[in-house]
Amino acid sequence: MGSANAVVADDSNGDGFWMVTEEVGQAQLRSAEPDPLLDEPEHWEETVCAQIEGAEMDLQWCGPADWLHNDWEDLLFEEEKACAVITPVEQDGAPRVELYDSGATRHISPYKPDFTSYTPLSPPVFLNTANQQRFPAIGSGTLTIRVPNKGTESELALRGTLHAPSVAYTLVSLGALDQEGFHAHIGAGHLDIVSPKGERVGRIARTLRRLYKVVHTSEPVDAAELVSVMELHRRMGHIAVASARKLVESGAVTGVELDPNSQERDCGACIFTRATRLPVPKVRISPPAQHFGDEIHTDVWGPASIATRQGRRYFVTFTDEATRFTVTYLMHTKDEALAAYKSFEAWALAQGNCTAVKVLRSDRGGEYLSDALNAHLAAAGTARKLTRHDTPQLNGVAERLNRTLLERIRAFAHESGLPKSLWGEALRHAAWLKNRTATRALDGKTPFEALLGRPSDLSGLRVWGCHV
Ligand SMILES: [Zn+2]
Repeated sequence: MGSANAVVADDSNGDGFWMVTEEVGQAQLRSAEPDPLLDEPEHWEETVCAQIEGAEMDLQWCGPADWLHNDWEDLLFEEEKACAVITPVEQDGAPRVELYDSGATRHISPYKPDFTSYTPLSPPVFLNTANQQRFPAIGSGTLTIRVPNKGTESELALRGTLHAPSVAYTLVSLGALDQEGFHAHIGAGHLDIVSPKGERVGRIARTLRRLYKVVHTSEPVDAAELVSVMELHRRMGHIAVASARKLVESGAVTGVELDPNSQERDCGACIFTRATRLPVPKVRISPPAQHFGDEIHTDVWGPASIATRQGRRYFVTFTDEATRFTVTYLMHTKDEALAAYKSFEAWALAQGNCTAVKVLRSDRGGEYLSDALNAHLAAAGTARKLTRHDTPQLNGVAERLNRTLLERIRAFAHESGLPKSLWGEALRHAAWLKNRTATRALDGKTPFEALLGRPSDLSGLRVWGCHV
């Protein structure tokens, strides 16, 4: 297993149980995006409320809640820390998580409602983790889990599973499956589980942290919202209709279902923005990066003819080559690019996305050539790649991204009729969507999934600037 190097055997109680304890002491909450407006006293809600006072409109923020507020409950599951103790979980409402583990010798689960047969253990059996925490198993029986299997799901019954309410998620013991006649094959980024009859019953993708972990973020299909393909096109910031369709059909996102009767139609906002589009040639210069931080693409855009309500006329983007995950910051002047870069770097390191930024790629704009930035990069050990100022197409990733973001912003403004001074908020939403849009560079995955190891949940997403 990917985590095998971190497995510590501990069988001091003779109960045959041991467990993975990768990165003990480095528990992290991984936030999907840093907040580019974090230093702003005003937030979007207040901004909009101020904007519409006297207009007698009832307009509220209508994007997903975590755009405004960190959803801590959800983020707990972003931890790629394999030690499964000791966080009691909500029984019915909690997202189900399974970790497939060669280190665990028993199946263990906190989710009592998912047991299809159950016998209480009296007295309880105490289990030990490698870091000497003890916790009780109070029952045992057959647990039924849902296993991803190339776009669908299979049910798998795990016999002899121990019920331990204090573990944080289900540990699926590969050793126990082997004993029941199952086969496990690992390769090409997947763990395949094959039944004793030779049928594949599951295919589990390897996460960035090299774990085989499944997070069931959404309720079953009937809980997903049914939307038309054009509605999804608009909610996703006017991505190609075929891409919108594929995003849902491929399972790259969850929380919405496509209305099978919905028709493709012309979109006014798209016709409007297409009229001003200029092509940026696609140029690949070097082999793609493998890990977050191997290469970060950055570009500054501005000045905008209209300042945001906080007086900002520029933005800077940082895009990771390996995951295509993008972070944006608004700026008053180009000089703030250094501070923005430091914020981005601090976020990437603190959230455990990487231990260092290896390469920063930019054009030769003055903001990237300052002594202060040179000194900062030298101290951090970050190499830089500079593209020629007069051939911005060689800065392809960042340039194309800016073009895409600006198109989305124009489409949002056109469609919503909201004041152009809200372009900062529109930018933020465009980047949020971009991180949740599948890309060919990632074989149809979203940057969100490439970074965090699970599909993004789009339930609750509305069209930008809509009235509620
Ligand atoms: Zn459109």
